[in-house]
Amino acid sequence: MSAAGTPRDFHLLAKPSGSTCNIDCTYCFFLSKEALYPNDRSRMSEATLETYIFQLLESQPGAEVVVAWQGGEPTLMKLEFFRHSVALVQKYLRPGQRVQHTFQTNGLLLDDDWCAFFKQHGFLVGLSMDGPREMHDAYRVDRRGKGTFDLVMRAWNYLAKHQVDVNILCTVNAANEKHGRDVYRFFRDELGAKWLQFIPIVERASAETLEVANQGWSEQPGKKRLLYTQQGNLVTERSVGGRQYGQFLVDIFEEWVRHDIGQVYVQLFDVTLEASFGRHLLCVHAPTCGLGPVLEHNGDLYACDHFVEPKYLLGNIHQTHMRELVDSPRQRKFGQDKLDTLTAQCRTCSVRHWCNGGCPKDRFAASRDGEAGQNYLCPGLELFYTHTAPAFEAMAQLIRRGRYPAELMASIAQADAEGMAPPGVAEPRPTADALPG
Ligand code: SF4
Ligand code: SF4
Repeated sequence: MSAAGTPRDFHLLAKPSGSTCNIDCTYCFFLSKEALYPNDRSRMSEATLETYIFQLLESQPGAEVVVAWQGGEPTLMKLEFFRHSVALVQKYLRPGQRVQHTFQTNGLLLDDDWCAFFKQHGFLVGLSMDGPREMHDAYRVDRRGKGTFDLVMRAWNYLAKHQVDVNILCTVNAANEKHGRDVYRFFRDELGAKWLQFIPIVERASAETLEVANQGWSEQPGKKRLLYTQQGNLVTERSVGGRQYGQFLVDIFEEWVRHDIGQVYVQLFDVTLEASFGRHLLCVHAPTCGLGPVLEHNGDLYACDHFVEPKYLLGNIHQTHMRELVDSPRQRKFGQDKLDTLTAQCRTCSVRHWCNGGCPKDRFAASRDGEAGQNYLCPGLELFYTHTAPAFEAMAQLIRRGRYPAELMASIAQADAEGMAPPGVAEPRPTADALPG
């Protein structure tokens, strides 16, 4: 229950096959979490599935409930498992509740049967893809080190054929960080994608672990394997540069704000606009967090997907109801710490109302005054929010006046044509095509 005694909505991610996956993306430190459950096939049992669905539907006070599957790779559970989960949702749905099913996948096992099922039950599918072939294949490789681009394109085509709603989940990493505009254009123009999400790759390491960490996180014969934990203030060579992350977003924004407002939905842009009205849709940029627990295949509930480590295990839903675990003082503190541990630099930052210091997992750098706990991505976050502030403020103004944010595109086009600084875009840019890549 909340401080006021009202239950809070939470958004749980379930990992039915744990962190087991059928490919070996080099940057995927989740693969190392297999070490938490040694000698375990990492498959969710029927009993855990039923307990999960029952408790989730019982816990949610709001009308909308999201049943979110991810991994590892959830398709390893086979389609029958998810047919059963949909049937259990129907069995335990309470009056007035509506369910949105979501499913995050690398796409490799998708076929007509999977996609017909997704369409039938209105699943929103997240497909992991890192851009055009050479960028996607830099790290998204199979067990033999071969790129998976052709296989993910096949998945995209199956999903498109069955008209499934798809959100592209693209990581921002050392291989694509300088190519924001190319990545965006590829998704928009080659795929016709409408929903995009960009996730920075930040793999932490220490002086002792960096060399091994740079080799990746999968199990390889004869190689030492680390369990990834949120420790160390170095990053692997695959990680995105702090400032470069912001430049990647700015490059995409410059294209989007001129051509695609209201047509292409970029998660962070929606989140930023909503935050102008005090609504925080994404934990990373909300003042507090702690309402995104993750469920392992055996019923263990952890504080967050990024903190699946023994220290952050809240309990097991077979012993304690998930509602109680999410509302526990420990989990409340986890969420509140996001606000309470902000550095002085963040507390006085002009874009804090949008950024809120970012995710605690990335706060391992030093602030400008040398205070520990600054977000490693801060130079990029500051660049992005400062650069785009006038445009987001202009869009928020349009909404307040009962108009559409997309109207901003006409004023930018006019200013561009006159060779002036477009209203609402921070830096004077002559034409979209002349922008640096
Ligand atoms: S730790 Fe980061 S990812 Fe996890 S809930 Fe908090 S803000 Fe979200
Ligand atoms: S931009 Fe940097 S200083 Fe400002 S709130 Fe975000 S992380 Fe903190």
